[in-house]
Amino acid sequence: MTGEHERTYAAHLGGLRSEPWDEGTSAVLDTVEQHVQACPQCGVEIRTDHRFVAWCAACDWNVNPGQPEPPTGRLEVLRHRLARQHGETLLAEVTTDGTLRPRRDAVGVLALALALAVHGTTAALLVGGLLLVVLGWGSALPLLGALSLLVAWSLRPRFARLPEDEPVLRRADAPELFALVDEIAGTMGTTGVHAVSITAEYNASVSTYGLRRRRLLSIGLGLWETLTAEQRIALLGHELGHYANGDTRHGLIIGNALRSLDTWRYLLSPVEHPTLVEAALNALYLLPRSAVTGVLMTLDHLSLRATQRGEYLADTFAARCGSTEAAVGMMDRLLVADSAAATLLRESNSRQTRRAGAPTGSEAWSGLWERLAAHMDSIPESEHERQRRCSALRGHSVDSTHPPTHLRRARLLTAAALPAAVTMDTARSTALRAELKETRDEVARRVMDGR
Ligand SMILES: [Zn+2]
Ligand SMILES: [Zn+2]
Repeated sequence: MTGEHERTYAAHLGGLRSEPWDEGTSAVLDTVEQHVQACPQCGVEIRTDHRFVAWCAACDWNVNPGQPEPPTGRLEVLRHRLARQHGETLLAEVTTDGTLRPRRDAVGVLALALALAVHGTTAALLVGGLLLVVLGWGSALPLLGALSLLVAWSLRPRFARLPEDEPVLRRADAPELFALVDEIAGTMGTTGVHAVSITAEYNASVSTYGLRRRRLLSIGLGLWETLTAEQRIALLGHELGHYANGDTRHGLIIGNALRSLDTWRYLLSPVEHPTLVEAALNALYLLPRSAVTGVLMTLDHLSLRATQRGEYLADTFAARCGSTEAAVGMMDRLLVADSAAATLLRESNSRQTRRAGAPTGSEAWSGLWERLAAHMDSIPESEHERQRRCSALRGHSVDSTHPPTHLRRARLLTAAALPAAVTMDTARSTALRAELKETRDEVARRVMDGR
């Protein structure tokens, strides 16, 4: 039941991208061949790298073959219109004001207040339950108190743990990486992280773990390995920017409030096939259940807006740390994310097929990241442009934690170009690479084994 919000909750903690992978692009082969055809719509000559979707830049023919159906139904249309309006207002606000605005706008403060009210209810149940047990001793009141304590316990905030199924690096394992993270964090007035987890994802994120809210940075090698040194600094700048903004703390408070509300909904859910007494209870619960659902939807909506704003601000940190050019380059990589996913899947599949046939004994995982990076480098500009237009066509989605990538990119380009605050020379790059070697190999092996 909490699954849906756990996903939202994880996303609230500051991933880099949230757009669903577009089925339209799947790179199948790596040999580059040009395919020439006339546009069926306007007749202009189209030259396509055959690994990608054929489309027409003149009239947008086939620009988004996997385009979802436009929304139907009054509520859906309204939700889409609201999402677009909010998206446009937000973009205007973060564009006109180039400097870093205060951490929270009215929407963010409202979301926080609502979440704190939810946690306040839990605290009231806890205190009330204790008082009933202690002061009502000798009567029937402690029973009510115990029930109240039980409900409060089920509503309590939860704190994430360190991931157990992926490599986690500590400072001693990767001093160079931690020093880089420290330096980048220092430029934005925050501190580094306690642990770094390494995944195969085409993404990166920050979160906290444990009661003491220690910091965990997660680096997806799928993305990291395809970035230049400057773009990696921009990536880390974006992620650490979420700490500087207080987005992880905000996400923890709101995520836990959403979870509490979900539990309330569960506790107040109607009994199926009720007896007469249960039917009366169902009727009694109707009003509080509707109220909880209303608060849940409002909080979800407000927090999504606050999260999108946090993404724009984190992008400013990315540009400040790694330069505007590097931050824009990173956005371009995000635009063609689906191509990286397809490449990794193809690699993994080819390995499975090979294993089913004659085992070669060759280490298929070695060179995986280099092959991925080479593929990403070979993606033609026309495919980037197509993805930018797709992003524009998709527009502001109603449930995305991130603003559309093309707008994030355009916003960085309209502001004055920033130089890099942190740089990485070849020696530093080499040292970083050396200390990550073992983990890179381990994660590559996992990809190839389909783990
Ligand atoms: Zn982010
Ligand atoms: Zn055309």
